[in-house]
Amino acid sequence: MRFIHTMLLTLIVFCAGAQTPARPRLVVGIIVDQMRPDYLVRFGDRFGKDGFRRILQQGHTCTDTRFNYAPTVTAAGHASVYTGTTPSVHGIAGNDWYDQRSEGVVYCTSDTSVRSVGNSDPLSREGRMSPHRLLTTSIADQLKLSTQFKAKVIGISLKDRGAILPAGRSADAAYWFDARSGNWISSTWYMNTLPDWAQGFNNGKRPDKILSEPWNTVYPIASYTASDPDNTPYENPFLGETEPVFPHNLPTLRGTSYELARRIPQGNTLTRDFALAAIQGEDLGKDSITDFLCLSFSATDYVGHQFGPNAIETEDTYLRLDKDIAGLLAELDARVGKGQYLVFITADHACAENPKFMRDHRFHAGFIDNTAVSDTAKRVLSKLYGDTTYFKSFTNDQISLNRAAILRDGRDLCTVERQLAEGMQAAIEGIYLAPDACMLERESMEGSGFLPLIRNGHYRGRSGHLWMVYSPGWTEKLYSGDGTRGTTHGSPYPYDTHVPLLWYGWNIRPGKSMQEVSITDIAPTLSFLLGITLPNGCTGKKIESLLR
Ligand code: ZN
Ligand code: ZN
Ligand code: ZN
Repeated sequence: MRFIHTMLLTLIVFCAGAQTPARPRLVVGIIVDQMRPDYLVRFGDRFGKDGFRRILQQGHTCTDTRFNYAPTVTAAGHASVYTGTTPSVHGIAGNDWYDQRSEGVVYCTSDTSVRSVGNSDPLSREGRMSPHRLLTTSIADQLKLSTQFKAKVIGISLKDRGAILPAGRSADAAYWFDARSGNWISSTWYMNTLPDWAQGFNNGKRPDKILSEPWNTVYPIASYTASDPDNTPYENPFLGETEPVFPHNLPTLRGTSYELARRIPQGNTLTRDFALAAIQGEDLGKDSITDFLCLSFSATDYVGHQFGPNAIETEDTYLRLDKDIAGLLAELDARVGKGQYLVFITADHACAENPKFMRDHRFHAGFIDNTAVSDTAKRVLSKLYGDTTYFKSFTNDQISLNRAAILRDGRDLCTVERQLAEGMQAAIEGIYLAPDACMLERESMEGSGFLPLIRNGHYRGRSGHLWMVYSPGWTEKLYSGDGTRGTTHGSPYPYDTHVPLLWYGWNIRPGKSMQEVSITDIAPTLSFLLGITLPNGCTGKKIESLLR
């Protein structure tokens, strides 16, 4: 009897000891740049048991997670996940946009008031970055505010915008990759010198090692049956290559720059390892105050743009990312403790099928030439008003007009916008919608279909006077080669807006929900999970299936 009592007591004490703590020690937010949800199925059989599969089986999956705005681009995506709102509120209206006040194109995170930290040139463009254009708080900022700034918040990504925007304005640090020096760098917004652990990591010269070997598939190439053959006209070879095929001979292709290190899956491994160094160096998740690591894997986006969604290169990148995530989880188990940390995985946008591939298979698709859009806009304006100075810029798929000149001539700006829209749609095939700023800024904008997504992406003064929304399946000409290879993203259509959302770890019950949720629901759900205040511009709602 006494023995049984002792056993019971031990059991009770044990259970109490193993109870879920009131708060997680660490939140790890993971954004996989350009990830489509079907990759989890298409490559699913080939994942190991400790990476994506562990999260899918032991975590909670929201299978229908959508972006509720366009443009679906990296900067807007990272900002929206973490602020719980859309570009119409947080102000990150694109990667680059035409700023109506300064009358020039600005890059989302560029900031000439700060200096570069971690490379040899403090005035290098790569390092002069900050979150100064982000207009609302991120969930990581709210964690800072709720802990009298005691929580540690760190953002890490190969891309500056992927590190800076999630971590917010009050972060301890954001680190990104400088393709010129091969270093992880930061800016004086956060610090004046790199901490020892980061300097030590840079001294290890990992990017040189990565670029000293060819990129070969991680499994025998014949086993990549979930993708097209290795050599198709829809892939773009690396600069210096004649065909887009394995092995990609990195040592001969790299030149003197480190640019190639982020365009291959090993760039994700480099990111993961720098994050592990940060967890150790900064003691993340070591005390009872929750810390936040905002991690973004960008190599997936570079590979996706280069080779497209159906390439073996893309499949190999995800099979390797699966291993990177397995390694990350194993380290989190060892350092922070199983059940003591919370992970979510999502994407900043997905991507389109290659339009030429679609055309070759008889789908309605095509390319729009940006130069032709600018030239047509100038021609239409000159024909209508006899004036070519009305045109200012075509940036971010939006035309900006010379407001001062239009008002000077006594014309109504809204009428000019509308007449230009009609002219553009008549002249160019593949423009599905051309909403203007007057329409989008009206208090009670009527609209169904894709128009509300455009409104959510429109920020007065940072967005243009006229949006060019291309037809489903159509994209602008692609960045490199002859403009028809690889892929892109940015549209309001499901192939760009439907993304994965997985939750795992502290307080997450295993399960799956098919209910539609929005990308702006992630931050408020974290607020409720952590018991902290909502981001100050939050328009998303908590995900009920997760909290029940
Ligand atoms: Zn992206
Ligand atoms: Zn290939
Ligand atoms: Zn991209």
